[in-house]
Amino acid sequence: LYAARWMTTNVATVDDDGYKGHGMLAPFTAGWQTTDLNPLVIQKSEGSYVYDVNGKKYLDALAGLWCNPLGGNEPRLIAAATKQLNTLPFYHSFWNRTTKPSLDLATELLGMFTSNEMAKVFFTNSGSDANDTQVKLVWYYNNALGRPDKKKIIARTKSYHGSTLISASLSGLPALHQHFDLPTPFVLHTDCPHYWRFHLPGETEEEFSTRLAANLENLILKEGPETIAAFIAEPVMGAGGVILPPKTYFEKIQAVVKKYDILFIADEVICGFGRLGTMFGCDKYNIKPDLVTIAKALSSAYMPIGAVLVSPKVADVIYSQSNKLGSFSHGFTYSGHPVACAVAVETLKIYQERNILDQVNRISPMFQDGLKAFSSSPIIGEIRGTGLILGTEFTDNKSPHELFPPEWKIGAYFGAQCEKHGMLVRVAGDSIMMSPPFIMTTNEVDELISKYGKALKDTERKVEELKHQ
Ligand code: PMP
Repeated sequence: LYAARWMTTNVATVDDDGYKGHGMLAPFTAGWQTTDLNPLVIQKSEGSYVYDVNGKKYLDALAGLWCNPLGGNEPRLIAAATKQLNTLPFYHSFWNRTTKPSLDLATELLGMFTSNEMAKVFFTNSGSDANDTQVKLVWYYNNALGRPDKKKIIARTKSYHGSTLISASLSGLPALHQHFDLPTPFVLHTDCPHYWRFHLPGETEEEFSTRLAANLENLILKEGPETIAAFIAEPVMGAGGVILPPKTYFEKIQAVVKKYDILFIADEVICGFGRLGTMFGCDKYNIKPDLVTIAKALSSAYMPIGAVLVSPKVADVIYSQSNKLGSFSHGFTYSGHPVACAVAVETLKIYQERNILDQVNRISPMFQDGLKAFSSSPIIGEIRGTGLILGTEFTDNKSPHELFPPEWKIGAYFGAQCEKHGMLVRVAGDSIMMSPPFIMTTNEVDELISKYGKALKDTERKVEELKHQ
């Protein structure tokens, strides 16, 4: 069974639950996977674990989709949702009508983000529509300033910013573009800052960062600075493979962006709220953004919600021009949904009351060092990470340039072995990603490391077998 699953890029365990050929057009899933294989159907969660419909228990080493730091069954979040559902399950925030939980959450968020001053919060349903909102804000801002040509957005290869038309365009992953006629022409992509994979022979991290900043500047000059509106970046790239910025990278990139009056959008959807050991990725890398995207951990995924934080620089233009421009005609029925906001307010309270950063910084050395000890494996090219996020890249002979044949599906095989041993990770090609819940106990971190070790041994054996076939 696991061998059959190994041929897929998405693995699933249940073989007799009757869900094969189900009616869902499933996200990021191939049609044949749903017709030929059973999906892994998760039924309940408990702390750092989830259970499938057959009762099998898995350590959730990705915290859902990088989004659930408080794990399953946090009673305070359940109580906050229930209380709000009983009081006011819904009212909208259009036309200067709104609800108290959304106002409270906005105040809370503005106080929490400290790496640069933020003046306003716009609520969305997810990270994708938050990034679409970013582009509309940036365009609205430049239109208000009488700069109608300043509209292009620069993102980075291997970034992930979502899957709506605009956010998928911003994403620098070919799978999000192919067959969808994307990216849209106003999106440009600059280099992925992955030092291990892309540095030139003899180039230091600092020199690599200098070269990438120069490439960015050349792109801006080639296109014309008067046409470039914004630059968007994740502090640590998540879905692209957990890619950490090389030394001096953001310092040099920010200098270029500033020089040409280009807005900096920090996509904190994965990094925000403690995952890197600082409250935001911007704090860790000294990023001073004009706009910030958040989602996921904002509600610990108990309710869908995202948001955009807007600096005074942008907010002032939008507000001061409102007599001329009329209303800011953008928003979603569920912008500031009271139940989602009430849950998010409670989530932020829990982060503060339980000193979530201390918790992350207490268990992350064990998580990082325990897993990085496997770096000597002959099939691992690089293990990289910080805080509670980590990526593993399988390559041959430890070289960034000697990839395993794609048809061997080494990453998927490793993912299937993790699943067999009772642990869920994210697989993308031969990259494996992990971002466990913050509530993990040290025993659970031990269990995670041990399961990773077992899956690695299985995968090493498989590689040997394939090499001798
Ligand atoms: N930005 C980043 C950095 C993300 O990782 C994601 C989702 N993984 C998104 C945006 C999109 O968020 P959503 O899936 O909630 O639309």
